Amino acid sequence: MELDITRLARENEIDLHWTEHRWDAEAFPELRQAIVPRIRNVGDYLLGLHELGHVLAPEARAYDQDTNVYACLLTEGAAWAWAMANASPEFVAVAKDEDWATVHEAIGSHYRWAALCPTRAPDEV
Ligand SMILES: [Zn+2]
Repeated sequence: MELDITRLARENEIDLHWTEHRWDAEAFPELRQAIVPRIRNVGDYLLGLHELGHVLAPEARAYDQDTNVYACLLTEGAAWAWAMANASPEFVAVAKDEDWATVHEAIGSHYRWAALCPTRAPDEV
């Protein structure tokens, strides 16, 4: 799984950094930089792919300069879609409940974070 992340980063010229702390994972699309968790399980692997998705998914990049709820959630959703579309099926097939719980917790954090965005929608309705 770690080799998958490393290969994708190298092939797409992403400056890759590893963190021991899963929730320190982050991406800086404009710098083509991603901080991904050390891979201890499939949940970490999917989180790592999600961060790469922030750099590589066109749909994620389309909104990465916007700070409203709508754009935040579209960006996060696009990065997750990219992660799932690019995950090796052999690894996804062996994901355990705890791995999916990691994904659920991450998605929940996006909603908590989006609730703090300064505007509610692109047209500020
Ligand atoms: Zn994200």
